[in-house]
Amino acid sequence: MSEDDDIVFVAEESAGESATPELAWRVLVVDDDEGVHEATEFALGGTRILDRPLKLMHARSGAEALALLRSEPEMAVILLDVVMETDDAGLRTVDAIRNDLKAVNTRIILRTGQPGHAPETDTITRYDINDYKTKGELTRNKLFTALTSAIRSYDQLLRMESSRRGLEKIISASNQFIAEQGMQAFAEGVITQIASLIGVTPEGLVCAAAEEPHGDFGPRQYRVIAAAGRFRNMMQQRLSDFEDRRIAYALADVLVRRQSIINPHSVVLYFRKSEREGFAAFVDSAVPIADVDRHLLNVFCTNIALCAKNVDLVSELRREAFVDRQTELPNRTAFIGQLSVHARQPGRKPMVLAVIDVDQFAVVNDILGNSYGDDLLRAMAQRLRAAFVADAFIARLEGDAFALLGPPDRVNPETLRRCFAEPFTIQDVSHPVSVCAGFVPLEMPYREGAEYLKDGYLALKRAKTAGIGQSVTYSRDIGLESRERATMLRDLRIGFDDRQLHLVYQPLLELGSGRMVGVEALMRWRREDGKLVPPDRFIPIAEQSGLIVNLGRWLLEESFSALGRLHAAGLADLRMSVNISPVQLRQPGFPELVRNALGDTGTDPRFVEFEITESVALGGLEVALEVLGALRGMGIALAIDDFGTGYSSLSYLERLPASRLKIDRSFVHSMSREGQGRRIARTIIRLARELGMRVVAEGVDDPAVLPLLEQFGCDEVQGYHFAEPMGEDALLAWHAAVPR
Ligand code: C2E
Ligand code: MG
Ligand code: MG
Repeated sequence: MSEDDDIVFVAEESAGESATPELAWRVLVVDDDEGVHEATEFALGGTRILDRPLKLMHARSGAEALALLRSEPEMAVILLDVVMETDDAGLRTVDAIRNDLKAVNTRIILRTGQPGHAPETDTITRYDINDYKTKGELTRNKLFTALTSAIRSYDQLLRMESSRRGLEKIISASNQFIAEQGMQAFAEGVITQIASLIGVTPEGLVCAAAEEPHGDFGPRQYRVIAAAGRFRNMMQQRLSDFEDRRIAYALADVLVRRQSIINPHSVVLYFRKSEREGFAAFVDSAVPIADVDRHLLNVFCTNIALCAKNVDLVSELRREAFVDRQTELPNRTAFIGQLSVHARQPGRKPMVLAVIDVDQFAVVNDILGNSYGDDLLRAMAQRLRAAFVADAFIARLEGDAFALLGPPDRVNPETLRRCFAEPFTIQDVSHPVSVCAGFVPLEMPYREGAEYLKDGYLALKRAKTAGIGQSVTYSRDIGLESRERATMLRDLRIGFDDRQLHLVYQPLLELGSGRMVGVEALMRWRREDGKLVPPDRFIPIAEQSGLIVNLGRWLLEESFSALGRLHAAGLADLRMSVNISPVQLRQPGFPELVRNALGDTGTDPRFVEFEITESVALGGLEVALEVLGALRGMGIALAIDDFGTGYSSLSYLERLPASRLKIDRSFVHSMSREGQGRRIARTIIRLARELGMRVVAEGVDDPAVLPLLEQFGCDEVQGYHFAEPMGEDALLAWHAAVPR
């Protein structure tokens, strides 16, 4: 099959007699000799060249010729006298035609009175002059031959130009299409391109096979996937439902034959995506479609079909980039895009963004397994979709975090609470779920989507600190606080480099004997102005930045070398307790860091204990256990700090390789009064002993609790009643002063 067979031309039934006037070749005669005009008219009157009549036009001087050409750009040939108002008026005119008017396709035949006035060869090539003749030579026959060859070459130039333009369009269209949104935008582009190739206004349709929803193999259904001009309201219509049967038949014919057809008043092109798959475009034309370059249309069809394949590919990639596979919800990138689009809308309606996070999801994953966790997330996505799909944009941001964007009467703490009021049934088990959420009203002035989302996370964080099932709406204060934290972080970085940080040590005493068995290293930051910042304020800030890495390294080296000095000062088997936060623990290469610090300071790990909190498990128990195992392997002991305040789970307590447990000071304080506090303290101590752990009571500032602690079986105590945290020298002095 030759490539041109891809396109079938259908002749107009009532041939010829159309209302549009027949196209003529325009020929301009420029001469100051009136006789020449008359002779030319006479010689060419009624002549047809390449199947078209000639239209003769006349100018008596170079200036007149240029004026006429400005208003009549499509001149095929100019018969130009060389000597007119001046000796070189003709050549000056040629210069203006080529260089000023930029008429490059128009053919020029020079006529000279005498052979001596013939132009130089380089003039002929420079100005692209087709031919020159002496006036005497221009007999009717010779004129006809000269004009025919000039017109033929003009026609070819025009065709070449139009196909070059067509190709350029196709190429630029292809590039543009790839960047477009998807098949619909692409198909709309196809209509525009066809229309401009055949020189009509873009009115048409693109039809493609509809996706077979249930994979049934019935007859293929075709639908409109793009429509332009007066067909605009036919989007999504089925081919079989078209009112205009003429168009329906034309499209069906092309889709079945897989072949393009050019009708006198329409073009129906077939685009072959694969052996089986393709789509068809119909473009209508009120006027008969003039000569289309079939080769060009073929190039167009092949190229566009290729593009369509790429569009499918890009759509697939976009899906990959914007849709979360697990829940089939839009992902974070898509959500940020949606936020930005919305924020940019002028006169937009009030909207609220919500960032939602499942309470204690990591715990669920740990205890019930990953597949359970996955099922829960999918069920949550479904629940959110059912509750909000009608009026909010729903996305999964990451892990257990979801997001909503919708009007304030739909997206608010109350609707969210209602959405999660019912428990979920996962793997036949009923599972109540609570969520925390941060809400952000999208207010003027316009900001980037990512910035709103950041505010959402700030509000969410507030909600999480408030407890489970909490909601917080973003306010200026929250933003302010986060800026304050940023300032503090900057100061902390500088302070760290300026050695504004130091360690103090608080004794741990054996209950009963009162012997100092250990010290706990506690970090202090004294700012330039002398103010002390409490560690529980600046450590979390360091943790949120990379600073914690350097801070942690310094902490280890500092406390280990202090231990060495204290040992040397006579506190022979003193133990050093160092607080390690979950963030530090999860920092990659942490065990390595510890090993190096031990080696560099020559520290015996048997005298080192790390205090961790139960919250290490919240970031994933397995990971934590691996690191803790490595530390235990080095010979470092572990203590569980602040026990009773975190997410306490017996299964954690049993699996964490800790040998000591520190009862949180809040329980110790409540022991001063009769009541539940005492019972809790007693239970914790019993529990610890049951698990083979030794127990420390921290925050002992009231000596009245000591007999009770002793009675319950507590091993060690720490608190202001005995000693406050102190510098190294003060500690040695304190120790020396204690009566033994
Ligand atoms: P923590 O590990 O539970 O440390 C014990 C805290 O209780 C210390 O507060 C200590 O000064 C205080 N304390 C001791 N005795 C008493 C008492 O009798 N009554 C009362 N009310 N409090 C007492 P500090 O030094 O302000 O530290 C607060 C928290 O900051 C620590 O709690 C620990 O979680 C964290 N922290 C301190 N230093 C470091 C460190 O170097 N690294 C890490 N990761 N965290 C640290
Ligand atoms: Mg501690
Ligand atoms: Mg503590």
